[in-house]
Amino acid sequence: MAKCPICGHAWTYRQKVLGYALKPRTRTKCPACRAYIEPSTASIIFDYMAIIALAALVFAGIPLMHLPVTTSVMLTGALILIYILVIIPLTVRFKQYDYNIKTPG
Ligand SMILES: [Zn+2]
Repeated sequence: MAKCPICGHAWTYRQKVLGYALKPRTRTKCPACRAYIEPSTASIIFDYMAIIALAALVFAGIPLMHLPVTTSVMLTGALILIYILVIIPLTVRFKQYDYNIKTPG
C-alpha cells in the first residue's frame, strides 16, 4: 500500500491513478495533507525496469510475433494501459520530498 510519509494517509487506487500515474511525477502531492511527496528510490527503480520491459516487448517482442498492424497497435496500447492502471498503482511507494536543503554546519 502506498502511504503518505507525513500524515500516513493510504492512497486509494483512484488517487494513485489520477494523482500519480497520469500526472507529471515531479509534483506529487498528498491528497490528504497537501504535502509534497515523491516516489521512493525502490519504486523509481521498479518503474524503470517496468518501462524497459515494456519497451522491449513493444519494440522487439510484438514485431517478432508478425501480427497484423492493428493487432500490434492494440497490443501496445493494452500494455501501456496495464503499465499505468496496474503496475504503477501496485508498486508505487512514497517518501518525503527531498528539497536538497543542506543543514548549516
Ligand atoms: Zn499526507
